[in-house]
Amino acid sequence: MTLLEIYEKNGISPAVYAFGEKALAELQPRFAKIDEMAELNQGKVILAMRENRVDAACFAATTGYGYDDVGRERLEQVYAHIFGTEAALVRPQITCGTHALTVALSANLLPGDELLSPVGAPYDTLQEVIGIRPSPCSLAEYGVTYRQADLRPDGSFDYDAIRAAINAKTKLITIQRSKGYATRPSFSVAQIGELIAFCKGIKPDVLVMVDNCYGEFVEALEPSQVGADLCVGSLIKNPGGGLAPIGGYIVGTKACVERCAYRLSAPGLGQEVGANLGILPSFYQGLFLAPTVVAGAEKGAIFAAALYERLGFRVIPGSAEERHDIIQAVELGSEAGMRAFCKGIQAAAPVDSYVEPIPWAMPGYDSQVIMAAGAFVQGSSIELSADGPIRPPYAVYFQGGLTWYHAKLGILRSLQEMVNAGLVPAEALE
Ligand SMILES: *Cc1c(COP(=O)(O)O)cnc(C)c1O
Repeated sequence: MTLLEIYEKNGISPAVYAFGEKALAELQPRFAKIDEMAELNQGKVILAMRENRVDAACFAATTGYGYDDVGRERLEQVYAHIFGTEAALVRPQITCGTHALTVALSANLLPGDELLSPVGAPYDTLQEVIGIRPSPCSLAEYGVTYRQADLRPDGSFDYDAIRAAINAKTKLITIQRSKGYATRPSFSVAQIGELIAFCKGIKPDVLVMVDNCYGEFVEALEPSQVGADLCVGSLIKNPGGGLAPIGGYIVGTKACVERCAYRLSAPGLGQEVGANLGILPSFYQGLFLAPTVVAGAEKGAIFAAALYERLGFRVIPGSAEERHDIIQAVELGSEAGMRAFCKGIQAAAPVDSYVEPIPWAMPGYDSQVIMAAGAFVQGSSIELSADGPIRPPYAVYFQGGLTWYHAKLGILRSLQEMVNAGLVPAEALE
């Protein structure tokens, strides 16, 4: 069977396939750069595992309290090495990215303290954590106030507004690296470093936390290496490499991470407890694969940008722009467009390919959300997935793909569904 035949059997017409190949021909230099970055980060991960003498004993299951869990401790040292930090907390007991961020915030903010976001509104689920949208057990309920400095219209930092927002109460500054469900640019590690230096220049003892979701291994440095006291993310995104079935990480200074451990378990217990229940092989092996998985996801993101850009849709970032995370936003302009795009991503999945995604009121989000994900790990967004809130500008946020070839198939199928629904005229592919 030929390649074209396989694509046809997977629902891709020759016209859509040919359109994809045309776009792809121009992307090769870009892909070569991504491969170089993957090589560097692969080396970084192996170095951390070698220096920490990872061995088969690290993969053993522990139960109960999980005292003296060698595998857990060694994994945390490996993370600290990779992120260039004093300490790390990497646990299956952290249920998701929002939980990891909640632990980091509530551990390091006390009643009377103020939290500042200098990069506009934080990710949807964090708005309830902070209490921007009232919620039981929010930081606001515990007497932590919140301030925000919005980005300038071009997506750059508004340094005057940030200076004005920092005050005697400002204890912690949270910087979200990735765009989340907003059509602003994602920030480079260098930009984040500049922002941290600016904030610490005004208030040297302020703590800075970076929400690093979707950013891991995209660049040679992580935000913890440019001054962040805390750097936080989800293991069902980049650093889990698609194998971790749950979990989150918090890396940073010893003082900050210790407080997170006390918040996660209990004061007095901290990092000493937390049985691994046999999950560690997937954490280690997933981390080992993460740099190449991230590279595949990035190629998919760039390919999607290139295809939809050619068809006149607004894409963020553009296909030629530098990337700082694996997220690709495509503004489809209508709910029908979002549905067709997501239908295609779902149809190309190895799991649940026969279902059609429909919008629903997901907990933690303020408008209906549509999600396409045919994932081995439920909701994993390092696996090929697309989602977005049903609200103008009707943008889907596309990410992941455990292999580049799967990402490619999913994107072609999304375009096929757009064509089938009459949202992209067949002539546009010529
Ligand atoms: C995914 C994400 C989160 C929340 O992670 P969950 O695992 O979905 O709870 C927070 N911030 C950003 C920027 C994200 O992309």
